[in-house]
Amino acid sequence: MHINNIIIGGGLSGLLSAWYLQKQGIPYLLLEAKPKLGGRILGVKDSSTEHYHDLGPTWIFPHQFNIQQLLEELNIPYVEQYTRGDALFQKQGNQGIIRTEGAGAASMYRVIGGMTTIINVLYSKIDSRNIKTEHVVTNTTKVDDQWIITAQHNNETKSFHANNLILALPPRMIVEHLTPTYWASSELIEHFKQVPTWMAAQAKFISIYHSSFWREKGLSGQVFSQQGPMQEMHDACSIDISETGEQVNLTNALFGFIGVPANHRQQYDESQIKEACLNQLNQLYENSEEELDSILYKDWATDAFFASARDINEQPKHPDFPMDQYMSELTQKNIFLAGSEFSRTDAGYLEGAVCAVNDVIAKIINTDNR
Ligand SMILES: Cc1cc2nc3c(=O)[nH]c(=O)nc-3n(C[C@H](O)[C@H](O)[C@H](O)COP(=O)(O)OP(=O)(O)OC[C@H]3O[C@@H](n4cnc5c(N)ncnc54)[C@H](O)[C@@H]3O)c2cc1C
Repeated sequence: MHINNIIIGGGLSGLLSAWYLQKQGIPYLLLEAKPKLGGRILGVKDSSTEHYHDLGPTWIFPHQFNIQQLLEELNIPYVEQYTRGDALFQKQGNQGIIRTEGAGAASMYRVIGGMTTIINVLYSKIDSRNIKTEHVVTNTTKVDDQWIITAQHNNETKSFHANNLILALPPRMIVEHLTPTYWASSELIEHFKQVPTWMAAQAKFISIYHSSFWREKGLSGQVFSQQGPMQEMHDACSIDISETGEQVNLTNALFGFIGVPANHRQQYDESQIKEACLNQLNQLYENSEEELDSILYKDWATDAFFASARDINEQPKHPDFPMDQYMSELTQKNIFLAGSEFSRTDAGYLEGAVCAVNDVIAKIINTDNR
């Protein structure tokens, strides 16, 4: 099968690339390894509402105008993170909990319905015949002027040919899955290896409750802990806006980032971590277990489509890829790097994904691949 543009990766950057190409009438095919689209935007639908609990990204920051503009274009509303009330500080080694007046001022936004709404709305705009999920790309090679992409789909090996390759995934995943030794210079491969995948070593815990009892006690849900396993927690209630413009709570939830580094977490099984998180919540909020409905947990470090061994073992740092250094090599080979980690600004964030895609689409339109 031959197609002008093949997009590898069905996260925000892949789907956005697909939508923008479609709007320009430029042919494309998107290959995604997983059964679900969204990549790091991973949500679990609430059992009683249409809202999603976010196991991946939660926030959009005020300076991130490109993602805010996209949300406006997609007609997706967003609201400020709930921070009304006091914060808690949990001291090391059971030394107690301090209540501090007023949580940090709200300086980030949450998408109504959860981040998965972005993926669902984008998908509804794209011709689904051009999207192939459960297609794990295992090989990319360039023969003459053609890209040959090999993918595994349900024990079947499939081959696709393309003029342009749009890589909508993190640099380290290119090295892990896409055989760049067939086409990239050794310097470029080394740079792919050096750029960390943002939040790939993180794990997130969500507890869903019958009531938002912390709010009733004048607490914001914000917690900083030296004890762990969660080192930072926030209110994660799903909000909707009523016809009169009021914020209405649809679900009651808290979420926390696990502070135990990924390479230490490997010593514990998932049930031990979940139990330790629930114990911590019970210490912080007396009788919280009585209100507990369900829990969700995702350890991103154990997912081979997001985390490499380096992501697990290194200290987290912000991605920074020297795009200008490789522009002529990439242009010569018809490779376009659309993953968030390749952005010149806010790399690794949703904002970065939008910026990286904007750059790629402008270049593709210039090369006229209709
Ligand atoms: C826990 C967590 C919290 C975060 N919090 C925030 C936040 O609050 N705000 C924010 O802005 N950002 C946050 N981020 C980062 C944000 O999620 C990413 O910037 C964004 O989702 C990146 O999108 P992407 O499409 O570039 O990459 P990805 O979402 O990583 O998509 C890449 C896709 O490629 C697919 N793929 C990989 N290998 C193959 C293969 N061999 N064949 C086919 N497909 C393949 C993957 O399955 C995936 O779907 C967070 C991330 C995590 C994990």
